[in-house]
Parts: sequence; C-alpha cells; structure tokens
Amino acid sequence: MKPLFELSLPDLTSVLKEWGEPPFRAKQIWGWTYQRMAGSFEDMSDLPKNLRARLTAEIQFTRLTPVINQTSKDKSTNKILFALSDQHKIESVLMHYRDRHTTCISTQAGCAMGCVFCATGQMGFDRHLSPGEIVEQVMWFARDLYKEGDKLSNIVIMGMGEPFHNYDATLQAVDRLTDPEAFNFGARRITISTVGLIPMIQRFADEHRQVNLAVSLHAATNDLRNELLPINKKYPLEALMQACRDYVAKTHRRITFEWALIQGKNDGAQQAHALVKLLSNPKLMCHVNVIPLNPTHDYAGAASERERVDQFKNILDASGIPCTVRVRRGIDIDAGCGQLRIKASNP
Ligand code: SAH
Ligand code: SF4
Repeated sequence: MKPLFELSLPDLTSVLKEWGEPPFRAKQIWGWTYQRMAGSFEDMSDLPKNLRARLTAEIQFTRLTPVINQTSKDKSTNKILFALSDQHKIESVLMHYRDRHTTCISTQAGCAMGCVFCATGQMGFDRHLSPGEIVEQVMWFARDLYKEGDKLSNIVIMGMGEPFHNYDATLQAVDRLTDPEAFNFGARRITISTVGLIPMIQRFADEHRQVNLAVSLHAATNDLRNELLPINKKYPLEALMQACRDYVAKTHRRITFEWALIQGKNDGAQQAHALVKLLSNPKLMCHVNVIPLNPTHDYAGAASERERVDQFKNILDASGIPCTVRVRRGIDIDAGCGQLRIKASNP
C-alpha cells in the first residue's frame, strides 16, 4: 500500500487520474488531510463512499501506531512512543504552555552521533525517517489539538535523531508543513536543532530559510566537548563557531545554543567564561538555552543543582548574553529524548 504522507499533490493527482476520478478530488483529499484534519479516509465525508473505500484499501492513511501514550500528571506533556510500519520505534511529544502548544518530533529511529548523556545516542542508529514519517508526527498532534479547538503554535525538530544527518528528508518534511496548500505552518515557528554538522549548517545558511536554527553546544572547550559529543572530534569548536557566525552573517537570523547542565562537568565558572568568550568579540547574535540534565540510564552524570544553574546564568547575564533556564518537562513520563523507548525495551 502507498503511504498517503509520502505522496505529493501531483502524485496524488496522478493516482486519482488513473482511477478515473475527476481532477478536483486530489485537492479535496489533500485539504482534508492537511487542513481539515481528517483522521482517516472515512472522515472525508464529502467523498463518494466507494472512493473512500478504495482509498482505505489502497492507500495507507497513517503508519504510526502508538505503543505507549503517556500524559504527565499536570497534563502539560503528552508523549507517545510510536511503532513505524517496520516496527522501529520513535518518540514524539506535545507540550502545552499557557497559550501555546509545541510538538517535538523525531527525524531518525535512534541516532548515530553517540552523545554520551543522551538516551537516543545510547541506543545507536536504526534508520532515517522518510519525509512522510516526519510530517505524520506533526499531523497526529495537530489532529488531537483540532478536536479541542486548538492549533499547534510551534514545531521543534529535537526529538530522536540528528536532523542534519537526515537533511533532505527533514527539509522536505519542513517544505510540506509550510506549503500553503498543505499544512501552511509558519516557517518562523519551526526550530531545527543540530549537534553541529558543519557542512549542513553551511547548506542550511545558503538556503536562506525562515526556519530557526539551534545548535547543541554543551561545552566550550574541545576537551570537554570531545568527551560529551564525539562528533566534536570531526567538527571541532573553532570550525563550528565559525560556521555559526557565517550562518548569522548570511541569514541575519539569531542562533540558539543548547546547553544541558551536568553537575560538576560543564556547569562551572570556567566553562561559563569560555562560553562567553566563544560568543563575544564580536558579539554573536544568539540566545543560550540552559537546561539541567535529564539523567539517563547509561550516563552517570546528574542535573546541576539550583545554585550552579544560577551561577552559570549569572556569568552569561553579566556579559550581556541572553540566556534562559528551561524547566525540565514531563520528568514523570520519561519525556527526555529517547527515554520512553529505552523504558519500553527494559520494562
Ligand atoms: N540531534 C539534535 C536534536 C535532538 S536532541 C541535537 O543534538 O541537537 C535535542 C536536544 O536535547 C539537544 O540539545 C540534546 O543535546 C539535548 N539532550 C539530549 N539528551 C539530553 C539529556 N539527557 N538531558 C538534557 N538534554 C538532552
Ligand atoms: Fe543524537 Fe542529538 Fe542525542 Fe546527540 S543529543 S545522540 S545528536 S539525538
């Protein structure tokens, strides 16, 4: 069966043409799928019954099967472990803020980058997701919200996997999501987070997209970054920071740096000052997000204590570097990246 979300509008149009359907049918189905939030072909109530039946028989509406679906006690976070058609598993999350709803989606099953503190890195790489599999995660939550009369406010591509290791599929998914004829989502409300694959940062800069870029830094010296993020040996800090500076110069867009604070590891004054140095002279247009580490099974590090988080932030504040301390979300439902899947395999 053809998966619906793998089809472009011209693809769908030619399938329907082969079936002898009138030309407007493809657009009608497309509209139901991306704008009227149908959850199945049966929901597409103004299609003839026999066409709905044929679509159901010959085109696969969704390939996502929820295996675990958890909502945090405070109802602010809904995390789903999905099985794909080939039984590989991915995680997707929906977070509710006061007046915003943000989804965090995966681009790969597992990840090849091996960052030591990351649950996804600890499980290794299974495979890339296709563009449709990436889009489907967003549509899943968009449909849920639609039922409540709500809409998605933001999409963060920060779930399992390294999006720039699966660049083409990720950006094709972004194109579908932002296409005015499809989901019509604002590119400025999408953020892609990368561990720092320099050639792809350069490519992304050249494409001059409105999509936001986040770079996972976590350390401001090569010794420490090599230890935490092995990819740093291939793309060391100096070259990474130059790529980030080139990105900002080319796109005039602010870059976000991610920093998971690990007690006694990367949360000291020395790292904070080294970070200030990396971001100064001349000052880089950026924002730093610090988040206390979410402890994982295969990494001994702990979240920084409050005092050390404050000290780290104070050093950045004093240097005029915008910095936000993020709260850890959904700890009671293993909402750290990759943690739900690990739990499913080690009950
Ligand atoms: N591969 C991309 C995007 C997915 S990871 C990247 O690395 O940027 C999304 C973010 O979660 C990254 O900033 C990553 O470093 C961070 N992260 C991974 N494991 C974490 C943990 N245990 N605690 C806190 N942040 C973590
Ligand atoms: Fe992969 Fe990102 Fe996890 Fe590193 S932090 S292992 S790049 S998902």
